[in-house]
Amino acid sequence: MLARQHLLSEEEVGAGFCLPQQCRVTAHIMENWEPHLNAQPPSRRCQDLRMLHRKVSVNASSRVPEDSPGHSILQHDMPDDEDPNCEDAKKKKLSHCPAAHPSCLFLGKARTVISVNDWESWFCQFLGVPIPALGPFWKEQRVCACGRHVIDEYGDHVHACKQHTSSTKSAHETILDAVQALCHQAGLSTERRNIPTVKKQNGKTGQGDLVIKGANIGGDTNLIIDVALIHEFGGNHMVDVSLNGKLRHAQPDKLLESAARTKVRRYREAYATRAGVTYAFLPCVMSTSGRIHGEFLRFLYILAHRRTKRWFEQLGYEPSEEAFKFRRGQYFWHTRAAIGHATALAVARRARVAEHALRRNRPRLHTQDDLLYPPTAPVAF
Ligand SMILES: [Zn+2]
Repeated sequence: MLARQHLLSEEEVGAGFCLPQQCRVTAHIMENWEPHLNAQPPSRRCQDLRMLHRKVSVNASSRVPEDSPGHSILQHDMPDDEDPNCEDAKKKKLSHCPAAHPSCLFLGKARTVISVNDWESWFCQFLGVPIPALGPFWKEQRVCACGRHVIDEYGDHVHACKQHTSSTKSAHETILDAVQALCHQAGLSTERRNIPTVKKQNGKTGQGDLVIKGANIGGDTNLIIDVALIHEFGGNHMVDVSLNGKLRHAQPDKLLESAARTKVRRYREAYATRAGVTYAFLPCVMSTSGRIHGEFLRFLYILAHRRTKRWFEQLGYEPSEEAFKFRRGQYFWHTRAAIGHATALAVARRARVAEHALRRNRPRLHTQDDLLYPPTAPVAF
């Protein structure tokens, strides 16, 4: 049949006398192949992770009112005009697969070389198995610098603990570097230093992570973004410690939404009404399993669209609608993969634990020999 493929007439192709596409063949095998059908995830955690790695799909334009979950400030910036009264099923969707980024080999400068240890750490977290580098700490029951929890071998406490600021910062900067590189590719200039500060509701001063100048996104000339990486598993519960290591919410997108709304409450109003230059504010929230919050995904789509426009402008070529959409599809894939890759690196880096940052274990009772540990105060004989 393969040999005859190119000899088929149009009528024969139309009638379905040709080889099916590979994705259809694979889907059919996976739906009917017995060992695959009977395979079960080896643990609850693996099962949860499989759920988390499913495709994320959001409406490209969200018309939800401002105070409701899912509201989008990017609804007027989306490149494809859509009828506001369009049926939900017919609306344009943007989707993302958390596990898709290793399939993109064209990241160029957006790709950072990943070390063997980081790869091992990310891959174990991706599968839901213990991280080898944390194994010894878990075996010795080493206590975290916060003094509240033992370091677990899945890295849940390390992700949730606020004392691990150095590795958390490095992870945060990794994602920010990727967003900044993507902005530059889309022809936008950015500023990472001297970010304007605002007074938060709690009276403290705060600031976003990156200023994007002249972007005209979100209803203002300039845009400030703030990056956050949340973890879907509990790791810092004190009242009910059995919740550590379990999913924090059955619907993972609710966690992303809640993190985004916290940031919006903290900064959006303050940046929109500040004295002098005002800014639009956009939270860019990711999760450690690789899920992207809807608003961040829309922002990445806008970046891919601008990059495509810029590419054709630089070529001096007026593309057909089809050619433009094809190119934009490729850039959008590349954009999501660059963020997925940066997040994988960030997840690996955040799960690092330095020996000196941990508490020293107290010697056990039976080792308290009087000669080894003489009392410091005089003792009466
Ligand atoms: Zn801790």
